Amino acid sequence: IRPALKRADLWREQAFVAGQWRGAAATIAVDNPATGAVIGHVPDLGAAETREAVDAAQAAFGPWKAKTAKERGAVLKRWAALMLEHADDLATIMTAEQGKPLAEAKGEVGYAASFLEWFGEEARRVRGEVIAPHQADRRLVVTRQPVGVVGAVTPWNFPLAMITRKAGPALAVGCPIVIKPSELTPFSALALAALAQEAGLPDGLLSVITGHAKPIGEVLTGDSRVAKFTFTGSTAVGKLLAAQCAGTVKRVSLELGGNAPFIVFEDADLDAAVEGALASKFRNTGQTCVCANRLLVHTDVHDAFAQKLAARVAAYRVGPGLDGPTDQGPLIDDRAVAKITAHVADAVAKGGKILTGGKQAKAIGARFFEPTVIADVPADALLNREETFGPLAGLVRFSSEQEAVALANDTRAGLAAYAYTADAARQWRLTESLEYGMVGINTGLISTEVAPFGGVKESGLGREGSHLGADDYLDVKLACIAVP
Ligand code: ADP
Repeated sequence: IRPALKRADLWREQAFVAGQWRGAAATIAVDNPATGAVIGHVPDLGAAETREAVDAAQAAFGPWKAKTAKERGAVLKRWAALMLEHADDLATIMTAEQGKPLAEAKGEVGYAASFLEWFGEEARRVRGEVIAPHQADRRLVVTRQPVGVVGAVTPWNFPLAMITRKAGPALAVGCPIVIKPSELTPFSALALAALAQEAGLPDGLLSVITGHAKPIGEVLTGDSRVAKFTFTGSTAVGKLLAAQCAGTVKRVSLELGGNAPFIVFEDADLDAAVEGALASKFRNTGQTCVCANRLLVHTDVHDAFAQKLAARVAAYRVGPGLDGPTDQGPLIDDRAVAKITAHVADAVAKGGKILTGGKQAKAIGARFFEPTVIADVPADALLNREETFGPLAGLVRFSSEQEAVALANDTRAGLAAYAYTADAARQWRLTESLEYGMVGINTGLISTEVAPFGGVKESGLGREGSHLGADDYLDVKLACIAVP
């Protein structure tokens, strides 16, 4: 059942390929995770259509990069304004296919639009440099040029923002982009494409190809005309796609999984730490790559923090986002429910104590899981080793800063880490000792379009957002000029 929209034409059951809306005989069904009901179908396109999109992108590249940054930026800013104008519809579409609470979906629309606005402005700040030469009769001039056609594969957890974080900088600096959104959330991506067209983005610069991942991904990672590949998703798929890119030595950006520690020290403001933990752990029903995954709590405050956190979590309203105000939605699919269920069982088997939640909320729907807090979880529990990606907060005790940092860094992931402490010197030490791309000190929310987002170790390559976010779409070129 389709969600009701103010502008019904933002609901597209066709893909957007090379400036054309395109159907196909074969389609893929998309469901509402809150109900399991099919809400619509998208075309099952493949390698041929992806190559067509790349052809069109290649053709559109020259004229687009020849425009001034101001002209390109104006299109991006119009696109952002249209997103905000239609924020209610975009949020409804997103909640219908992704499940997040409507207020969060609306928040994501604003967050997603902010990347288009930001990079629309940043386009004008792409700069080169002149280097003092190594010889008196040489001049060294460094410019930066758009890399060319970009291929992007994006996930379902932020169906709009994970696209604008890539399309914004790519288009701003002059690169066309061909996007394969998640099969689970294509309608947000297609609505976004409709608004790009309405904003006046010339044909071919942006394509959204729906279909099964593998054949589309093979073109985006294997076609030599695609100069740059950018991916957000799981670490396993990211590694596979990066390997596929090796054959043509593409520039590669990856935003992969995290395993964020959230450290509460004995001197922390516990109420603030609880607020931060709620924001970080339970946002998007625990399905973000920067979600606190392991709550490391000093043994002196473990019980008090656990009680306060559990009381707040127990009061969460769980339900379908389109039916009224909620705090927690469904998980994306049955696999996600199975994973969190296994993590709870493992934590309990290893001695953890459930303070609230702990099981499926079957009365609400098959993919709902009660928001859960488990105290006294040992460090070797599954929920500390793997990203849970669900509403489960497991608390691990520690007794010294050294121990907390060692536990925090004991993972191949390195995306986000959080710490709550009143000690200013410790705050500085943590920003240096935590092996993560982003460290939140006394805050559980770190994402903004003006700051660099990205990970170290196996959490990824490159940065999105901020002035650095454009770098991934620019090649550095040296001109060495003889001036006899
Ligand atoms: P998650 O586990 O969060 O769903 P995935 O990494 O499986 O994350 O999915 C992220 C994106 O990667 C989705 O758009 C998905 O369709 C895509 N994807 C998954 N497998 C492949 C593949 N073999 N080739 C190309 N894209 C893929």
